[in-house]
Amino acid sequence: MRAHPAGPRHGDGTQLAGSRQRPENTQEGLNLDPAIWPQTAQRAPDSGAIVLGGCDVRDLVTEYGSPLFAMDEHDVRTRMSGYREAFNDPSTHAHVYYAAKAFLSTTFARWVMQEGLRIDVCSGGELACALRAGIPGDRILMHGNNKSEAELTAAIDAGVGYVVLDSYEEIARLAFLAERANVRPKVLVRVTLGVEAHTHEFIATAHEDQKFGFSLATGSAAEAVRRVMALPERLELVGLHSHIGSQIFVSSGFEVAASRIIALLAGIRDEYGLELPLLNLGGGLGIKYVESDEPPDVAQMAEVLREIVARQCSSFGLDVPDLAFEPGRAIVGPSTITVYTVGTVKPIRLDGGGVRTYVSVDGGMSDNIRTALYDAEYTVTLASRTSEAPLVLCRIVGKHCESGDIVVNDCWLPSDVTAGDLLAVAATGAYNRSMASNYNLVPRPPVVAVRDGQSDVLIRRETFDDMFATDVG
Ligand SMILES: *Cc1c(COP(=O)(O)O)cnc(C)c1O
Repeated sequence: MRAHPAGPRHGDGTQLAGSRQRPENTQEGLNLDPAIWPQTAQRAPDSGAIVLGGCDVRDLVTEYGSPLFAMDEHDVRTRMSGYREAFNDPSTHAHVYYAAKAFLSTTFARWVMQEGLRIDVCSGGELACALRAGIPGDRILMHGNNKSEAELTAAIDAGVGYVVLDSYEEIARLAFLAERANVRPKVLVRVTLGVEAHTHEFIATAHEDQKFGFSLATGSAAEAVRRVMALPERLELVGLHSHIGSQIFVSSGFEVAASRIIALLAGIRDEYGLELPLLNLGGGLGIKYVESDEPPDVAQMAEVLREIVARQCSSFGLDVPDLAFEPGRAIVGPSTITVYTVGTVKPIRLDGGGVRTYVSVDGGMSDNIRTALYDAEYTVTLASRTSEAPLVLCRIVGKHCESGDIVVNDCWLPSDVTAGDLLAVAATGAYNRSMASNYNLVPRPPVVAVRDGQSDVLIRRETFDDMFATDVG
């Protein structure tokens, strides 16, 4: 894809902003689009500073330092209950599993439970966090393409509801561990369907060139089912699982996926006389990061998915199975903003003419790797005040020793942006803190939940001592 060792953005300095359209004026540039920003985000009438959950971001920075993640508890809880209601329609029996990898802390896991969701984990650490929060084992589903013996044992000990099988080795491994523990875990077989969906497009091929699951096309999914069925004393096959991608805006990929996986359900019925009671369609629903993103309405998407499944099942003469969905990003992503402090401002004259202003903040790729990793786009705004100054083209960069350390590639900020200003980046709840690193030995920022003028720390700021706790030298 990209080869430059200095990072993905190195060398494209002559290109001016492509995708980020210039707002009409400064006023519009400072506007908080409610489809992008958390539900309670607004600007204080006097100062123009952003207030989230009744807390002024300037006060949050005074109390907890900078940078920080501020999570709108009302926003995230509303989305949790909204997903539960949208998918658990009376006509179908469905469960929503929050995909823990998007973001997890003990308190957050309790919210998941309080709002009536279950949880999907894909490592021993995520499982430990869910258990620590008091989530009963039977509300937990465990994924992963290479779960260790220790992780599978922990899952058995916790009595997790479902283990999603991902390889032949794992079938044997889990059966062995189940025998040793004298239990019979419920399992799903993860099927790769040759469908990969992102935003508006999906690719449907016969084969799937990736590490997850069992391929439908090559017959390894059918073989996995055969091997599980051959161990009836040890493993209870209850269903199939598929996950077709992330940041998906349209249902067409799900439609192809559902028709393929339901055909497999029918094949299993024909071969074994067994109608598997559960179909897990994974996660992947998209959110709005920038103006041009058009995510679907959740209730509508749920409706469409139910309809697709009902139609495909009836065409094979199958009863509609229980359904499961695993949204991660769509639940936590929009709830959170990252607040940074500006440290330096450098206007750089570009070869092709024009100026790009590099605004350096006190975090970067250690708290948001998605821009460097996926070319992800984000919306950023001046958070500690408003301005009347004209807009200038900016690039928000971090403090790391890496020229690919970019938080927001193209954006328009008031030209008077200066050291000490606070910036807020929207929709950083998913895959930001959970993917954070200690690159350059930078301690990871805290996650602070805000609600009704109150703030509570979910994860405190990391200290040097935390980092050195594992350094035995
Ligand atoms: C990542 C993942 C999810 C969640 O994806 P989102 O895009 O955050 O909704 C759900 N299921 C599986 C198996 C995943 O790997």
